[in-house]
Amino acid sequence: MEKKLRLAIQKSGRLSENSLDLIKQCGISYTQAFGKLKAEANNFPLEFLFLRDDDIPKYVANGIADIGIVGENVLLEKNEAVEEVLPLGFAKCRLSIAVPRDFSYNNIEDLNGMKIATSYPVILQKYLKENDVNAQIQEISGSVEIAPSIGLAKAVCDIVSSGSTLVSNGLKEVEVVFKSEAVLIAHPRLEEEQQQILSQLLFRIKAVRKAKQNKYILMNVPNKSIEKVIKLLPGMKSPTVMPLADEGWSSLHSVVQEDEFWKVIEQLQEQGAEGILVVPIEKMIV
Ligand code: ATP
Ligand code: ZN
Repeated sequence: MEKKLRLAIQKSGRLSENSLDLIKQCGISYTQAFGKLKAEANNFPLEFLFLRDDDIPKYVANGIADIGIVGENVLLEKNEAVEEVLPLGFAKCRLSIAVPRDFSYNNIEDLNGMKIATSYPVILQKYLKENDVNAQIQEISGSVEIAPSIGLAKAVCDIVSSGSTLVSNGLKEVEVVFKSEAVLIAHPRLEEEQQQILSQLLFRIKAVRKAKQNKYILMNVPNKSIEKVIKLLPGMKSPTVMPLADEGWSSLHSVVQEDEFWKVIEQLQEQGAEGILVVPIEKMIV
C-alpha cells in the first residue's frame, strides 16, 4: 500500500478553517464526513486527523500524526519534541498580560507579588523568570479574562488579537509576552517516503503563500515614462512591455508585492500610468 502522510489539524476552532483552506489552495481535495475524526485526501497521499489543538504537539511528537498545524503559543506551552517546519501566516495573535483598567501600571516590576491567571503557565513562568518578576501563577483552562472580576486573580495572561475582549472585561494590556501565528510542525524522525511527501506538500504551500503576498499588475504607460515607472516598482525585476495600438503608449505587466504597490500608486499616476489592474495570483513558483 502507498505510504501516506498524516496531518493533524484542529477539529473546530480558530485554526480549522484556515488550515483546510490552505490544503485546498494546494490543490488537495478531500471529503470530510461530518463529526468524523479522520479523513483522506483524494488526490494526494495525505490523511487528516481532527483533534483539539492542545493535543496536536503530543500526537506529532509520538508519531500518531506525522505533521500538524498548531499555534506557536500552544507549541511553546506544550514543549514537545517536534520540529517547527514553516510559519503559515494565519491565526496571528499575541499572549499578553493585562491588568484592571484603573490599576496604575508603570512597568513590569508592578507585577511583583501579583496573582496572574492564565492557561499558559509554562510560557508565563519563563517570561516572569527572564524578567526577574516574582508573581504567583493561577492556572485555569478557560475564560481567563473574567478572573479579575470574580476575584480569582489580580491580572491575566491571555491571548489577544484586537484587544476588544480585554476592554469589555475592564482590562488593559500592559505587557506582550509572546507573538504567535500558526505553524506547520513535523515528527522529528519521518521515514524517507514520508519526508518526500512532506517536501512535495511544502513546495505547494510555499507557492501558495508566495502568491498571496504578490499581485500581478498591468497598466498602460506613456512611452516616455516607462523608465521611471520601472524604477518606482522595486519588486519588478523584468517587466513585460508591449506596445499598445495607440501610438506612444505601452502596456506594462509585472509582479509586485501588494504593500509596495500601495506605496507608489500616486507616483505611478503622476507618471501618467492609466488603466491599472491589480490581479491576484493563484500559485507562484520562483
Ligand atoms: P480547542 O477546542 O481545539 O482546544 P481552543 O479554544 O483552545 O480550541 P481556539 O480559540 O480555537 O483554541 O484558538 C486556536 C489558536 O488560534 C490559539 O491557540 C491561537 O494560536 C490562535 N488564536 C486564538 N485567538 C485568536 C484570535 N483572537 N485571533 C487570531 N488567532 C487566535
Ligand atoms: Zn485548545
